[in-house]
Amino acid sequence: GALALAVFGDINAAGDAVTEVTTSGIKLAGCEIMDKFSIKVVEKALGKDVTKIEALLIMEGDGAKDVVVRDMNRIGEICKKYGVLEYEWTDNPAKREEMMRARGGLVPTLSRIKPGNRLVAIAEDLGVPSTKIPETIRRAQAISQKYNILIATFGHVGDGNVHTTFVCDVRSRDDWDRLKPAAEELVKTCMEMKGTLSAEHGTGLTRAPHIQLQLGPAMEVMRKIKQAMDPDNLLNPGKMGLEKGAKTDIYDYFAFKPLVEHPEGLNSYGKAVDDEVLACIHCGFCRLGCPTFSVTQREARNARGRNALAFYLMNGTIEPSRDLAEAFYSCTTCQACTYFCPARIKVDEIVEGVRKKIYEAGLVPEPILGVRDNILKMNNVFASAKADRIEIYPPALKEKAKTGQLKAKAKTLLFMGCVPSYLDMKMVPSLLKPLDAAKVDYTTLATEEGCCGFPLFLMGAEADFHDRAKRLVEQMKATGAKELVTPCAGCYKTFKKIYPEVVGDLGLEVYHSVHYIEKLMKEGKLKLKGNGKQRVTYHDPCDLGRAFQIFEEPRNIIKAIPGVEYAEMARNRLQARCCGGGGGVSANIPEMAVDMAAERVRDALAVGAEVIVSGCAACKDNLRKGTKAIPKDERGKIKVMDITEFVASAME
Ligand code: SF4
Ligand code: SF4
Ligand code: SF4
Repeated sequence: GALALAVFGDINAAGDAVTEVTTSGIKLAGCEIMDKFSIKVVEKALGKDVTKIEALLIMEGDGAKDVVVRDMNRIGEICKKYGVLEYEWTDNPAKREEMMRARGGLVPTLSRIKPGNRLVAIAEDLGVPSTKIPETIRRAQAISQKYNILIATFGHVGDGNVHTTFVCDVRSRDDWDRLKPAAEELVKTCMEMKGTLSAEHGTGLTRAPHIQLQLGPAMEVMRKIKQAMDPDNLLNPGKMGLEKGAKTDIYDYFAFKPLVEHPEGLNSYGKAVDDEVLACIHCGFCRLGCPTFSVTQREARNARGRNALAFYLMNGTIEPSRDLAEAFYSCTTCQACTYFCPARIKVDEIVEGVRKKIYEAGLVPEPILGVRDNILKMNNVFASAKADRIEIYPPALKEKAKTGQLKAKAKTLLFMGCVPSYLDMKMVPSLLKPLDAAKVDYTTLATEEGCCGFPLFLMGAEADFHDRAKRLVEQMKATGAKELVTPCAGCYKTFKKIYPEVVGDLGLEVYHSVHYIEKLMKEGKLKLKGNGKQRVTYHDPCDLGRAFQIFEEPRNIIKAIPGVEYAEMARNRLQARCCGGGGGVSANIPEMAVDMAAERVRDALAVGAEVIVSGCAACKDNLRKGTKAIPKDERGKIKVMDITEFVASAME
């Protein structure tokens, strides 16, 4: 197939061009029109100055190649006749996708026009004779101006479907008061055009106030049929306004009613998170990225399902419950959904907001509470002994730590984290090896190092997290360090982003081991000989990649090691698949975490990798479990290593 894009400075001319195209024997597989308000919304994606554009046509041709080429050229000639500003067409799949990106992103992006605004499904699905489309669009624009309410219009020209899409602050009665007469005027316009109120979307509740206008006397006949078939009105009560005496005021039918009555929010998560909840328009694109949906195929384990639940909790329709807790404590907070979402909804922040409420309601799943108790009682996630935190140190350093000879002050503070200290046998020695080789002046908190509190933050234990943050920052400051280095992605995110929100400036620079190792390599302080020929891929930890866009540093390190043949997985960087090791899921639902890890390992196997390198203790642990879950003949000898370990093993 091929796609043509025609840009017009006059909407009537665009309408005339379409009429001639569709009546001249050219077979179109699709034809879309966008008005100036819609175009403005996707200006960035279009990459054009849109000030002089009134309408955009996207036309799709399909069939034998020579016919498509002929038709696309003829469309160009017709458009030229009507004064097209720009016309281009392509049958290159990548270019076609680029052209469609603006249109695909339009609907969710409408929710991003202003914080707290979102599109509202009311009078948004008109069907008019296709020759009446330009006039309908112009009249919708006039109504928009008259009532000072945004109506962005786009439509499918072939079938006369016009989406007049209202955007407003759904919490504002003032907005609804302007929206209501605007919608009514639009409905009347549609009737004058001899159109229908429902072209392709369901009729349901939103059309109920106006359906009588369209159906006239037929409405009474339909009511009688409904009464005869469903005397107790059990089926779809309220839909289409079919009950006698049904209320047909706009407020009676809206899911937003509780928010209109309580604009401050019945159960607010705070304005910023509430705005995220409202901006989601439930399109479902996030399914493509969500790892928990991928392994369960359940909507309540997908970003959209979680957003819907968050919305109903916010407006007081549902209460915290165990089921709700399972939906939210099964999220890895990986943000993959955000980067598959055209509106970039921050679902991880919504999840964190809901978890706080569930925590306050005392409904947190038991395994998660176990982690909290371990941290509060033993200062680490495993309930291990405090003295054992340094068991993993190399002998000389351990001796110093045990005899109190570690430097009290140093330029660099190393923060190992719980998993590298207690669970992983290689990360701590592997971090120290390059630092020692480069003669870095460092110290550690040794047995006084405790969990950074990230798991407390993730579970919603706000007060405990704040206490911990304040205490740990005091300990850090006492070392006089100018910089902190950690090999744990979770600790990095906690120190870099979350602590400053709680305690302000930490007084030191926070680095992840990938930053530090790359810096030492650039300074020529590390001599690397490699480990022979190896095909290696890199798994982006969510808390480094999507959270901070730390993508190139680890790849630069890996590629600089002699013998490495680097292979990139299909899903990488912003769209990397989450390994399932984050968000507390591996503690709460370990089987599900392993299923997610196995999917990620299969991504690596698909590019022929022999080693998966990552930059996070939790990723390494979970990916190893995922590897073991794959049959031996399929997984071969694939290995999982942390980047510190990969570098240390490649040093001379
Ligand atoms: S979060 Fe999902 S459902 Fe909501 S707007 Fe984004 S992609 Fe659509
Ligand atoms: S943060 Fe990750 S696990 Fe949670 S909803 Fe989004 S994609 Fe799914
Ligand atoms: S984020 Fe780091 S310190 Fe905190 S629990 Fe995880 S490994 Fe331990």
